[in-house]
Amino acid sequence: MKDLIKKGQGKKILLMLLIIFLIYYVQFHRAQIMSVFHIKKSLAGKVVVIDPGHGGIDSGAFHKDGTLEKNINLLISLKLKRALELEGARVIMTRTKDESLDARNNKSSSRHRRDLIERAEIINNSGANIFLSIHVNSEKGAPNVRGPMVFYYRESYESRRLAEILQKHLEKAYISSGQRVPFRIPYPNSSLFLLCNTRIPGVIIEVGFITNSQDRQLLKTSDFQELISGEIKNALIEYF
Ligand SMILES: [Zn+2]
Repeated sequence: MKDLIKKGQGKKILLMLLIIFLIYYVQFHRAQIMSVFHIKKSLAGKVVVIDPGHGGIDSGAFHKDGTLEKNINLLISLKLKRALELEGARVIMTRTKDESLDARNNKSSSRHRRDLIERAEIINNSGANIFLSIHVNSEKGAPNVRGPMVFYYRESYESRRLAEILQKHLEKAYISSGQRVPFRIPYPNSSLFLLCNTRIPGVIIEVGFITNSQDRQLLKTSDFQELISGEIKNALIEYF
């Protein structure tokens, strides 16, 4: 009888020790456990402005088959927004539908300039960590020129670092789709309005060329838009 009680107590003590051990283990290995179970999202606490280029009256680049840059910009941007939010980022969009932003201010007589001023102001008032302006490139008379290109403000080291990581990941999206695109280094710039008039790190991403038939066909598919936004998300995880 005595032995039975002793055995029972022994089990209880063992169980308590096990619980104490587990509590300490979880305390000291919290970060690893959370990352294994993806509890802490990789972009938690980060704020990103996504600027889908053009919109409304301004279609941006276009092709005679009816492809409009503004639509591709918006579709990729909306997919990117979802991808970043799933990783815990807060996303601010300059537009979420087919509209231009020129009617929101009267700071210039040029419609195009008013549109860009508005985008720069959204970025500058956002309190965001970075901004990404999404565009499709065009090179008339050079239908073979293709692939992604990233532009950054020449004087901004952080923008350059962001641009380099993005360029690498965008090329990865093309390569994983079986495409041959040239490897590029991002382009420093000191004349594009958005790059010169914003106060946080950011880049202009040209996701491909509307004037190249392979790029154009790819960029119109939902799958490739998803792939591009997924690689931009991966680039941001690497950047932060
Ligand atoms: Zn554009």
